[in-house]
Amino acid sequence: MSIGTTEFDYDLFVIGAGSGGTRASRIAASYGARVAVAEEYRVGGTCVIRGCVPKKLLVYASHFAEDFETAEGYGWTIGETSFDWKKLIARKDTEIDRLNGLYLNTLNNAGVEIMLGRAVVEGPNTIRMGDKVITADKILVAVGGWPTMPDVPGIEHAITSNEALHLEEFPKRIVVVGGGYIAVEFAGIFGGMGSDVIQLYRGEQILRGFDDDIRNRLADEMRKKGMDVRVGVNVTAIEKTDTGVSLTLTDGTTLEADAVMYATGRSPNTKGLGLDTAGVELAKNGAVKVDAYGKTNVASIFAVGDVTDRVQLTPVAIKEGHAFALTEFGGMTVSPEHDAIPTAVFSQPPIGTVGLSEAEAREKFTDIDVYESDFRPMKHTLGGSNERAYTKLIVDKATDKVVGAHMIGLDSAEIIQGIGIAVKAELTKTQFDSTVAVHPSSAEEFVLMRNPR
Ligand code: NDP
Repeated sequence: MSIGTTEFDYDLFVIGAGSGGTRASRIAASYGARVAVAEEYRVGGTCVIRGCVPKKLLVYASHFAEDFETAEGYGWTIGETSFDWKKLIARKDTEIDRLNGLYLNTLNNAGVEIMLGRAVVEGPNTIRMGDKVITADKILVAVGGWPTMPDVPGIEHAITSNEALHLEEFPKRIVVVGGGYIAVEFAGIFGGMGSDVIQLYRGEQILRGFDDDIRNRLADEMRKKGMDVRVGVNVTAIEKTDTGVSLTLTDGTTLEADAVMYATGRSPNTKGLGLDTAGVELAKNGAVKVDAYGKTNVASIFAVGDVTDRVQLTPVAIKEGHAFALTEFGGMTVSPEHDAIPTAVFSQPPIGTVGLSEAEAREKFTDIDVYESDFRPMKHTLGGSNERAYTKLIVDKATDKVVGAHMIGLDSAEIIQGIGIAVKAELTKTQFDSTVAVHPSSAEEFVLMRNPR
């Protein structure tokens, strides 16, 4: 611990006031450290300003068309409905402003000095902001990531999720390129709001890395909802037209749309940050290389969150930031655990997952049992939707431990958090089975699956 050294302006200088940087700043300050945090855009970072939060608000908004139909199945008469994109975006922006204010308050109340502007690292203990040179005992790099797009002719006519959250006009026809979290979530958002959606994915099936049954089911359900999910295809050129864009595809066909959105991954934001000047080792894609405690090869420089390109998830960045602050300023030794991370994809229908996919479990264990249940959620019986739900447990036969749990269907994102605790705690299938079901619910399937596939 090195709190209150007079040699430097600050004990800790954090670059980036997103999820990881904010948590690290606040916790370090609570132990008496003199902390400053620099932010070049808006306090809150990707998740609050242009990621998880606005995205989830749009996901809610996009569900209403289906909800109105469901309501009629339950005896309601729904009159004429209409949707106002501009109104939604304005209301979403108001909420983001509110959250931005809360983040600012949190930092202020914790005694963290907020410096708006771009910070550049000039040495192991030196940062420059404009013409101001600042010194700090420790520097934490928490600058996150930024969407990347491939080098396709005409790519300047494409948008990313950043712009999708601020489109002036609602796109009646949109093409989404990519097969990851962001692509499937935005395909669902625009599809639910009434756009004609075409999703293009270069590989065999969307959501590479997820359990195959979940991937196949999501593609099927999205198609059932009218989204045109195409796999094994990519874009070779984009041209601007009077009404939007024209795309040429690898299969030789062309597509016209009002907009094309790329969700082809996010890269660490380290360009021009000066880390090379300070001697910090970076990976090929610009990610800051760190050890289990967020330490780089330069003893005074640390990094947490998306900029380290380990697990690009907000709660993980928060845990990394917290662990860093406890270790460096709280007199503890804490390293964030990166195993059994539960996660949700807010696709339509949503997905919840924790632990290993079936394919990963087959690689790791000699013998596994797979339990599954395919059902129609009760809400859909009167509601009339033909959307199905599916739960899956993967068990290591030798130890009876549940090593993977997956769900697609209504409420999966909410359900998987609790199941995540059980998988993280390495509970056995016998313990799952001895748990009383919550009835009637979809979640109960996780304790009712008796016969392996
Ligand atoms: P992902 O890495 O999840 O997916 C990128 C997709 O783009 C993949 O399908 C990839 O294909 C495809 N792709 C990559 N390069 C090209 C290319 N040159 N041409 C065509 N397709 C390409 O990134 P996202 O942008 O979707 O999201 C970034 C991260 O943000 C995620 O990893 C996730 O951790 C996080 N996130 C989490 C959310 C949540 O928790 N709900 C929501 C949104 C984001 P291939 O599979 O072949 O590599």
